[in-house]
Amino acid sequence: DKHLKIDIIKASSSKLETTNFNELAFGQVTSDHMFVADYIDGEWQNLKIEPYAPLQLNPANATLHYGQSVFEGLKAYRNEQGEILVFRGDANQKRLNESAKRMCIPEIPKEIFMEGMRCLLEVDREWVPKQAGCSLYLRPFIFAADDYLGIRPSKKYKFMILASPVGKYYAKPVAVKVETRFARAIEGGTGAAKAAGNYAGSLYPALKAQKDGYDQLLWTDGKTHQYIEESGTMNVMFVIDGVLITAPTTTGTILKGITRDSVLTLAQEMGMPIEERFLTVIELEEALNSGKLEEAFGTGTAATVAFIRLINIHGKDYELKEVAPTAFSVRILEALDNIKYGKVEDKYNWIT
Ligand code: PMP
Repeated sequence: DKHLKIDIIKASSSKLETTNFNELAFGQVTSDHMFVADYIDGEWQNLKIEPYAPLQLNPANATLHYGQSVFEGLKAYRNEQGEILVFRGDANQKRLNESAKRMCIPEIPKEIFMEGMRCLLEVDREWVPKQAGCSLYLRPFIFAADDYLGIRPSKKYKFMILASPVGKYYAKPVAVKVETRFARAIEGGTGAAKAAGNYAGSLYPALKAQKDGYDQLLWTDGKTHQYIEESGTMNVMFVIDGVLITAPTTTGTILKGITRDSVLTLAQEMGMPIEERFLTVIELEEALNSGKLEEAFGTGTAATVAFIRLINIHGKDYELKEVAPTAFSVRILEALDNIKYGKVEDKYNWIT
């Protein structure tokens, strides 16, 4: 099958020796190789693993001007036997194609995504950290490759996968601000797609909040700003009166987080009552005032679970109770880590 012939060109030197695996900041170091495929004449072709290197770009490259580009983020973990495990790669593959569709980008066949990733992990296997709690972050992405200044869906694209070792994420609880002026997404927009422009548009409001001392925003719906949607690069969950509440993903304004889905699956197994519904800002404020808000946390690939310690609503800071070791969010984080590092049975077939 010519689609799956992957040429491998090995790097002549390695950055492994000069990389300090005990001090890895997110996204700063990339591995020695990258996976590349080209979409030309209506077909994905030229599948290659090649030395990590800068790309040559024509200044008229369509992505630079119009942002026709989508991406994914997932992680590979090393188990105690030294094997490399990828968590829910098939779900990321599906989501990449859903994002691609929204942005008029041709879909990547599952075999190319999975085989490209497998091949990169084989060549760069030493880049999957051995240190506890560490992982290799994988960044698949597709971008328009036409050199043309007119606005139209590109005819050529590039699909690439990069790998970057990441350290243990110290789950420092975060302070968030409910955003009621700016919007991340709106019904009919591109919020459900992991598209480059969504992130560019959220930088300005997020930076403003950071200047006021908040780590991230809690986005509300773009129309009424009454409903909590999600956080920076995380979905957001609340435990109120013993019930786990998180926004539904049916409006097309929220990214369908794979961690979100995994948490909901495990919560169900634990017998935790779940409500997939929009929480209003007023309800959240009431739950904070009455002490019924037991837990609030973000879910995403980077942190798995990020505990929220403070929520700002309409200019007022509310401090949350410290999470107890028996809290739902603490137990769910441990349960997910155990699956990711292959310490427990993989009941749901989440590991490749
Ligand atoms: N929302 C947004 C906007 C994100 O960028 C991410 C990170 N991909 C998430 C939620 C969490 O998704 P996941 O659990 O699949 O990482």
